[in-house]
Amino acid sequence: MNLPSPISTVTFNNFTFDVKRDDLIDPYISGNKWRKLKHILAKAQQLGKKHLVTFGGAYSNHLVATAASGAKFGFKTTAFVRGEAVTNEMLTICKLYGMQLLFVNREEYKDKVKLFDDHFGGESNAFFIDEGGACAEATLGCAEIIDELNACYDHIFCAAGTGTTAAGLLKGINEKTPNTQLQVIQVLKGQDFITAEVGKYVAELAQLKVHTNYHFGGYAKFNNELLDFIKNFTATTGILADQVYTGKLFYAVTDLLKNGIIGPTEKILVVHTGGLLGLLGIKDHL
Ligand SMILES: *Cc1c(COP(=O)(O)O)cnc(C)c1O
Repeated sequence: MNLPSPISTVTFNNFTFDVKRDDLIDPYISGNKWRKLKHILAKAQQLGKKHLVTFGGAYSNHLVATAASGAKFGFKTTAFVRGEAVTNEMLTICKLYGMQLLFVNREEYKDKVKLFDDHFGGESNAFFIDEGGACAEATLGCAEIIDELNACYDHIFCAAGTGTTAAGLLKGINEKTPNTQLQVIQVLKGQDFITAEVGKYVAELAQLKVHTNYHFGGYAKFNNELLDFIKNFTATTGILADQVYTGKLFYAVTDLLKNGIIGPTEKILVVHTGGLLGLLGIKDHL
C-alpha cells in the first residue's frame, strides 16, 4: 500500500486547495475502502480467521477492495451480491481475485446476519464484514488520514455514502486539529442522515457540517452538468473523479468557493476517497 498517501495542490477555476490522494493508495484497494479494511483485516488475522464474508451491490467499490486485499493478505473471500445474477467489469475483477459471488434477492439481502449464519455459521474460519465495511474499526483507519497531515486546515471535505468515513475523519479532527471544520457532501438524496450515523461513533459533533444539496438526483445518479464538470476538472487538474462520489464532492467544493460560502483565503483539504472504477458507469454517456 502506498501510505501515507501524497497531497496534491490543485488550482481550479482560480481557487487553490489541497487534495489528499487516497485514490493513489492502490488501484483496486483504493481510498477509504482500504482505510476501513485495514483494522478489520488485522482483527480477522488476530482471531485466526481465514475467510472474509461481505456484502454489496453489483457496482460496489467495497467488494473489489475486499477481493483484492483478501488475495494480497491471504484470505479466502466471499460476497453476497444484492439482486439478480449479472456480470460487469467490477465483478470480473472480484472473480479474478478469487472472490466467490453469491447473488441474493433484495428481500434476502436485508438480513445479512441470517445470510452469514445460514451459509457460514458452521465455519469457524469465516469472518463477517458488514456492507461497505461499516464498523468501529473502520472509523479508526479513517481517523489515520488526519495523523498523516503536516498542515492545519480550516476545512476538510469528504463525500459520504454511509458516513463511516466522515465519522473517522471527525474523530481524528476532534483529537488532533479541533478547529478544523469537517464539510461532508451527502451523495444520497434526502434529509441529512449522516449526522446521526456519525453520532454512533463520535460524541462531539460541533465541527461537522453536512451538505444535502449536491446529490444530483440520488445515489449514482448524474446529469450532463456533473459530467461536464468532471471532464473539465479532470482535464484541468489531472485528477480523475467519479460520478458517484468524488465528482459530486469536487463540484460542491468549487460551488461553495464560487458562492463565497467558503472564503478564498481559507485553507482547504479535499479527501479523494478513490473509487475510480465507478467511472465504468458512464462509458455510454461521454
Ligand atoms: C464507499 C465510498 C465512499 C463513501 O464512504 P462512506 O464511509 O460509506 O460514507 C466515498 N467515496 C468513495 C470513492 C467510495 O468508494
